[in-house]
Amino acid sequence: MKIGIVGLGLIGASLAGDLRQLGHMVVGTSRQVATCKLAISRGLVDEAGTELDILAEMEAIIICTPIAHIVPTVTQLASLIKPGTLVTDAGSVKGSIVAAATQIWPHFVGGHPMAGKAESGIEAAELGMFQGQPYVITPIKGTVKSSIEQLANLVNALGARLYYATPEEHDQAVAWISHLPVMISGSLISACVANNDPLGLRLAQNLASSGFKDTSRVGGGNPELGLMMAKYNRAEVLRVLAGYQQDLAETVRAIELEDWAGLQLKLEQNQATRTNFLPPTI
Ligand code: NAP
Repeated sequence: MKIGIVGLGLIGASLAGDLRQLGHMVVGTSRQVATCKLAISRGLVDEAGTELDILAEMEAIIICTPIAHIVPTVTQLASLIKPGTLVTDAGSVKGSIVAAATQIWPHFVGGHPMAGKAESGIEAAELGMFQGQPYVITPIKGTVKSSIEQLANLVNALGARLYYATPEEHDQAVAWISHLPVMISGSLISACVANNDPLGLRLAQNLASSGFKDTSRVGGGNPELGLMMAKYNRAEVLRVLAGYQQDLAETVRAIELEDWAGLQLKLEQNQATRTNFLPPTI
């Protein structure tokens, strides 16, 4: 299959490399010539360039740009590509993208490969990153069935765990397990910096080990990604932050009241329920 990738960053270049290894012909576009050259020299794509018209003959196109550029890219592609071409995206938010993109291109199917790391850009791309990871497809009423199947086949070939959800269900779920962690983890870093004097901060930095590394990872990642989550999934992010604040207030209250039994029960429940959020292999 001829597959186009728009945006050769962490997600786009990783997908490109995997799809090429699966035997597809992969053509990439990115804004910078340097990114395109790197994608070719690393064997992640067959061809790459800065103009979208090199994707005119593709059978499927995956848009992996920052969220703000996804719908405008669909608009640009609509006048270039063949009728029936599958167009999908990798955006971390679906509600504000899928309806608009489907109106522009009837063969648009929303997607979200749920893998990532703190680093961004093509340098961070990694083969096999989606293997065993969730990949959500978010069809809506009117999404073309054959295009959904085409995307599902690609997702299965990547070895990802395929899930279906409406854009709204997706945005609610990821607000809890992806967007909220980015906000909380970011606040962990900024509150630690703001509430320590220089000597205290230096000591904390020297003593920080695996616990801080784990809990600060998503908050210390690509700032553009966190900003887009808040901006494009604003209502859900505010809703889950309110729920989190309430829960945190209960923890504060338990400690103030020295309610050690209550706190212990809560921590035990947390220990028991955490595993429900983890795939069997972790
Ligand atoms: P990223 O590493 O910053 O990559 C985005 C790349 O897109 C950049 O390297 C940039 O390369 C290129 N680009 C930017 N604007 C463009 C445009 N208008 N046209 C063409 N290329 C453009 O970001 P990412 O983490 O891969 O995220 C990409 C998408 O995947 C986002 O929509 C995000 O929500 C989603 N996503 C991210 C993660 C994650 O954890 N990182 C996980 C799942 C989904 P040039 O400088 O060469 O243009």
